[in-house]
Amino acid sequence: MSDSESYGLIDCMFAGLPRQCGAFLLAGETNLLIDSGPSVTVDTVLRGMEARGVGPEDLDYIVLTHFHLDHAGGASVLLEKCPNARIVVDGRSAKYLADPERLISSAAKSLGEIASHYGTMLPVPGERIVPIADGFQMDLGSGRTITAYHAPGHSGGHYAFLALPDRLLYCGDSLGHYVEERDYIYPATPTPEFDLDKSIASARRLLELEPELLLFPHFGTSRDAAAVVAQFERQVRRSVELAEGIAPGEHTAEKLGALLFEDVPGLTDAEAPVIRGILDVNAAGVLHYLGRRDATTS
Ligand SMILES: [Zn+2]
Repeated sequence: MSDSESYGLIDCMFAGLPRQCGAFLLAGETNLLIDSGPSVTVDTVLRGMEARGVGPEDLDYIVLTHFHLDHAGGASVLLEKCPNARIVVDGRSAKYLADPERLISSAAKSLGEIASHYGTMLPVPGERIVPIADGFQMDLGSGRTITAYHAPGHSGGHYAFLALPDRLLYCGDSLGHYVEERDYIYPATPTPEFDLDKSIASARRLLELEPELLLFPHFGTSRDAAAVVAQFERQVRRSVELAEGIAPGEHTAEKLGALLFEDVPGLTDAEAPVIRGILDVNAAGVLHYLGRRDATTS
């Protein structure tokens, strides 16, 4: 069993590919998932839960780092299959789960060719949502807790969760995508909310929590939080600098996406088109951020 599997990481097989997107199962007195993968891979997550002895009716909570489709889409479908589960999510995002139409149409636009891998989201009944804010803590029993830390930058309503006593930090997308096999990070900078300064401030705040282990739904774990945060900061600055280096008038997501794609090492033929699609989404988010930034500074 790999390190990440031993920490409950269930591989969703996003886009049919291994080690791209997952959901973390914390099993015990309280059973919870942290993130859920997209709606289209729910059966894979349910099988992963069953393999670890947690049936659909045993699931108590689905804790969402944020409400993007590849983290929260599955949760909306899982609620129908897991009658006792409730969704824990940023209080300000809760209304989007109850009425996801706007989220779905904006995601379809920004995801383009890779939208089908992200599936959809069903409306979540309000009584099954637990809205949270910074500092929210859950008692998991047996002396274990998780605490929510607001970590905006990737999206405004993004949280990371610190599990005690082991100091496991569930990062969501706040530190980008981590390719564990290559110890490589590429930032996740989608429209409409990516913000460079907030991303860096959140990364530094998370490092101050002194995590023993970082856990990434995209995909794996690292025990060297200082090195990961330093690499994230370099990489997210680089994404913005690459955009700033493109001649005015040639500022297209396609052009920036190609530059970001050149950076990523060791992709397989099967991964390349999917990662290219994700990087085009990231490129659009960086350009959107620059447009906002320049509008407020000019
Ligand atoms: Zn996201």
